[in-house]
Amino acid sequence: MGPTMRMTQVLSINDLSPHMRRITLTGDSLADFPEGKESAHVKAIFPAPSSSNKKPKLGVYLGFKNFMRSYTIRSFDKENLALTIDFAVNDHQGLATNWALAAKTGDYLGIAGPGDAKHADLNAPNHLFFGDITALPAIAATLEKLPENTAGHAYIQIPNEQDKQVIAAPKGVKLHWLVTANKFTEDFLIGLKSLGNDISDTAIFIAAEASVVKQLKSHLNTSCEYDKTKLYASAYWNQKR
Ligand SMILES: Cc1cc2nc3c(=O)[nH]c(=O)nc-3n(C[C@H](O)[C@H](O)[C@H](O)COP(=O)(O)OP(=O)(O)OC[C@H]3O[C@@H](n4cnc5c(N)ncnc54)[C@H](O)[C@@H]3O)c2cc1C
Repeated sequence: MGPTMRMTQVLSINDLSPHMRRITLTGDSLADFPEGKESAHVKAIFPAPSSSNKKPKLGVYLGFKNFMRSYTIRSFDKENLALTIDFAVNDHQGLATNWALAAKTGDYLGIAGPGDAKHADLNAPNHLFFGDITALPAIAATLEKLPENTAGHAYIQIPNEQDKQVIAAPKGVKLHWLVTANKFTEDFLIGLKSLGNDISDTAIFIAAEASVVKQLKSHLNTSCEYDKTKLYASAYWNQKR
């Protein structure tokens, strides 16, 4: 049996900032969508740009994965069947980002999933987050779930000051906004190095371009004491060379 695929339609569009567009989806197909999955990903299924009815083709067929991209569940309101996704926009061209930029109320989007929540241990005494703007939805959704008395640091790359978001993070978690268009910024590594070598009590979340994830993991492996079971590290996108 293939994955469950749901047809949804755009309920609302809200530009949070110059590089982040919030799109809320709805549809009766969300009636059995699970609650509490914020920060987990879904596979969004996009219409082929050439399709005349702008409807994605659901189901498993040759090449179906070409129309799928991973996106984070920012929130889900079961009562109103409203699933919210934040799309990073205006900094690259691609099937997903182009769809989000052109989206109108009533447009169709397929949804498969969800997967599991990403952070390895919400109850760890310390937390570390590294992510570019594509990981901001997952980091924000996770920070909102952490216990109030916890501590840590979150390093988040955003292209522009106005892309900062108000996040309901625990007071002990310091947000470091890395304001730069460079998603490969060395500031991630500088941040990690500044925390010292013993981070064995820390749950670590890394999500960015593949080479950034590799660089940070390599530093963890060569220079840090950390608990591998408390690490989530994932390439959220790959720079095509
Ligand atoms: C688990 C998971 C959760 C994710 N959640 C989100 C989310 O909530 N919001 C979000 O915006 N993204 C999220 N992403 C990232 C998103 O899936 C990718 O950025 C995706 O490649 C975008 O698809 P596209 O069709 O726009 O571009 P593609 O067709 O995949 O790529 C087109 C070109 O753009 C480049 N490219 C792709 N993404 C970027 C980028 N971010 N910056 C610069 N160049 C890029 C590629 O290298 C390629 O050259 C997530 C990824 C994963 C794995």
